Amino acid sequence: MTRTIEATLIPGDGIGPEIAEATLVVLEAAGAPFKWSRQEAGLGAFERTGDSLPSATLDDIRRTRIALKGPLGTPSAGGFRSATVRMREEFKLFANVRPARTIVPGRFENVDILLFRENLEGLYVGKENWIEVDGDPHAVGMAVGINTRKGAERILRHAFDTAVRLGRRRVTVVHKANILKILTGLFLETSKEIAKEYEGRLVVDDMIVDACAMNLVQRPERFDVIVTTNLFGDILSDLAAGLVGGLGLAPGANIGDDAAIFEAVHGTAPDIAGRGIANPTALILASAMMLDHVGYKAAGERIRTAVERTLLAGDRTGDLGGSLGTADYAAKVVANLD
Ligand code: NAD
Repeated sequence: MTRTIEATLIPGDGIGPEIAEATLVVLEAAGAPFKWSRQEAGLGAFERTGDSLPSATLDDIRRTRIALKGPLGTPSAGGFRSATVRMREEFKLFANVRPARTIVPGRFENVDILLFRENLEGLYVGKENWIEVDGDPHAVGMAVGINTRKGAERILRHAFDTAVRLGRRRVTVVHKANILKILTGLFLETSKEIAKEYEGRLVVDDMIVDACAMNLVQRPERFDVIVTTNLFGDILSDLAAGLVGGLGLAPGANIGDDAAIFEAVHGTAPDIAGRGIANPTALILASAMMLDHVGYKAAGERIRTAVERTLLAGDRTGDLGGSLGTADYAAKVVANLD
């Protein structure tokens, strides 16, 4: 490996810096080509600079076009808008890709789901307002969802093309077109049009989101690729992560035409932050997806194999019933690299 690839590193809030350090140790040992520029975002950045997504961070991602990001804190109601969501919008990262694959056989043995979530539209467009009634300024809460044919086409084509490239067979389009006939009916309608182009290469079916949730819990092995709108994708991908060992194992990628940001699906885990016990696997697996993305598939695969060996040997962090700390776990992964 001779090439150097400039990349942005955002350690983030809470457990972010701990799991980012562990991930860097593994990447370094695997011979990853990244030359990192460290930037800040999230709650810490907000407290320090007054902006949860400082312009220096945005400029750096504009330059490198690729970033590895730890979780970022966002206040739950009020306060500033999620820096993660702002980043997706800024760089038009329209596809959120979340794999959920059994590593440690538990409740289910053979889950291998690749979930594509539309990342920019739907109920995440931030168009919310209060309506005052009888002197109560918060008497009514409203949100507007926006889906476009162009946005649906973009994520559906990305999901279908990736499915074909990876040799996947079935794509399930998830919606709620029986009730949200326009908002998610448009997504279903567009999927049926586009699916015609993939006849003979993919089996495309569709499912209502509530039925999908139940089927995921009862027979997750039935699913191959799922593609869905923003909010449903957010919820179903956490559900899928729960089927295969929890959030500590779930990586995600945010892909656009001009930039890509890789992250763990989980949040900042404030309850365990600073104690050196967080599970870094999700971010390590996200960094393996990042290696795939820049064409270093062999290095990505080496990392995934090392993680698998480590977990199957019983070397685990507390969330998975083990006793290893973050750094000791990362050292085990390094020792398991071929
Ligand atoms: P969370 O994912 O941070 O934590 C949920 C539970 O899972 C906690 O008990 C936590 O200890 C545990 N957990 C999560 N990751 C873990 C890991 N790697 N190892 C061990 N245990 C782990 O969810 P939350 O508490 O709802 O959110 C906390 C903050 O994170 C909020 O500010 C939220 O907005 C933010 N958040 C950020 C992102 C992101 O940046 N992509 C995603 C989700 C939540």
